[in-house]
Amino acid sequence: MMNNQQRQVALTGSACLDKVLSCLEKVKSTGANKWKACCPAHDDKHPSLAISETSEGVVLLKCWAGCTTQNIVSTIGMELRDLFPGNTQPRRGPSKSAIEHERMVYRIGKSLLEQGKLEGSDIERFHLAKQRLGVK
Ligand SMILES: [Zn+2]
Repeated sequence: MMNNQQRQVALTGSACLDKVLSCLEKVKSTGANKWKACCPAHDDKHPSLAISETSEGVVLLKCWAGCTTQNIVSTIGMELRDLFPGNTQPRRGPSKSAIEHERMVYRIGKSLLEQGKLEGSDIERFHLAKQRLGVK
């Protein structure tokens, strides 16, 4: 049964975003491509998780209580790569947004690596991003 607060989500987002939002509670739109919800990774009574979507369809999660994105996605049964729509074949020649995307993968991967939390296929994806960006 749904609680009386029906989901008021502008479902304009990508498949990734829809999937993330459907796993969260008390989802509320807070602006264009921005939502907030209760963080699934900690005991969150007042929505402290900010969700946004970039123009490339990448879903960004930020818990103000300090949960990591990795924690949040694994709590709802997803993986980091589920936040990125561009998991398919690379297109001909990197566009600006593709490079931006790789930078994001790299940044997230790097911070997880530093925390010793980079695992499985995320490691491969991280190295791919590194390679594509030409980072040593
Ligand atoms: Zn949290």
